[in-house]
Amino acid sequence: MAVSIIGAGVVGLAIAKVLSDRHDGDLIVFEKHDGFGQETSSRNSEVIHAGIYYPPNTLKSRLCLEGNPLLYQLCKAAGIKYQNCGKVIISTNEEEKKEIENIYQNCQAIGVPGISLLTEAEVKKLEPNVFALTGIMSATTGIIDSHGLMKYYYQQAQANGTLFAFNHEVTGISKQSGGYIIETSNGEKILAEQVINAAGLGSDQVAGLAGFDVKKLHYNLYPCKGDYFSIPGAKGKIHHLVYPVPHKKGYGLGVHATLDLTGQIRLGPDAHYGENLNYEVDPAKRTEFYHAARTYFPWLKEEMLSPDTSGIRPKLQGPDDGFRDFVIKEESANGYPGFINLIGIESPGLTASMAIAQLVERLVMTRSD
Ligand SMILES: Cc1cc2nc3c(=O)[nH]c(=O)nc-3n(C[C@H](O)[C@H](O)[C@H](O)COP(=O)(O)OP(=O)(O)OC[C@H]3O[C@@H](n4cnc5c(N)ncnc54)[C@H](O)[C@@H]3O)c2cc1C
Repeated sequence: MAVSIIGAGVVGLAIAKVLSDRHDGDLIVFEKHDGFGQETSSRNSEVIHAGIYYPPNTLKSRLCLEGNPLLYQLCKAAGIKYQNCGKVIISTNEEEKKEIENIYQNCQAIGVPGISLLTEAEVKKLEPNVFALTGIMSATTGIIDSHGLMKYYYQQAQANGTLFAFNHEVTGISKQSGGYIIETSNGEKILAEQVINAAGLGSDQVAGLAGFDVKKLHYNLYPCKGDYFSIPGAKGKIHHLVYPVPHKKGYGLGVHATLDLTGQIRLGPDAHYGENLNYEVDPAKRTEFYHAARTYFPWLKEEMLSPDTSGIRPKLQGPDDGFRDFVIKEESANGYPGFINLIGIESPGLTASMAIAQLVERLVMTRSD
């Protein structure tokens, strides 16, 4: 089995670890940057999600529910830093109170563990510095050192003999008998029996390189940026992650407050679509963030906020579309046997990384049988 993975983000790395752990054969990971995890995987909230918001019977729901305990087990076994801090979702007006009920019902329907409804007094007891009318506690939510996780996947895969071709952008893919010829920016050509497209924001382009009709298959991505502002000096104000009810159209989860492993509070990400996005955070957005967070942090002052990082979601859902699931698919049915596309791996891709890798392993092994 000669398998090529395109992309060394958390998903490509997890797949490399799982495949190299359990199977023989040549495994190469092509990555256009000079190291792993330099795009979306190092520009996110580092939250281990519980699987609360996704519709039942979707890959996002299933892989998040499977991935959450897998990630905790891995952190414990491998010494990757994490905190099972929990999160509260809060309502601040009558309309949001109804939404809290809906979210709770969805959790019951999907079977999300560790979920309970909270009264105003119960939220106050958990989070004295948060204004809320009602809430939901999610006990299985946590935070993780995402770089530590990627380093672990990378080192394990490397120790198992996986070859990492950094500074190798995949620029061409052509179907041959017995597999695919992968061409890179360095002019190299390699034959792979199976190809795994885990190229994140570039995954629709990579599918296009191989000849997939990206528009017709609805594989085209709509990049959607999320900015963060931090609140230096507010350490200790909250003990759980604090989320408002999510954006009605499903672009993002609303400007929420996350903690990092040092206890620093970050607000965000917000959500705005665009082409040619960069990672700069416009300081002028401070007022917008302040007003969003002031509804639940009554002690907040605008001057406490400072621009932080940003990330770009590889969304299949355009601005006017409804929910779109992950595409994780062996493409024989579209005429590409042994080609596995992973497209639209936005949140909860970090949480689900192990579960995604195990699903891809099953797809690879079905072809190899
Ligand atoms: C703002 C934000 C917040 C998020 N928060 C969370 C969270 O709290 N919890 C959670 O579970 N998930 C979260 N996510 C989602 C999570 O970050 C992603 O699902 C995950 O990082 C996707 O990993 P990936 O490996 O698919 O993509 P990436 O990390 O983007 O990796 C893809 C790699 O492919 C490479 N590549 C692209 N094209 C080519 C090519 N032609 N040749 C070679 N290499 C190529 C890129 O350089 C890149 O390194 C968040 C995402 C965003 C944007």
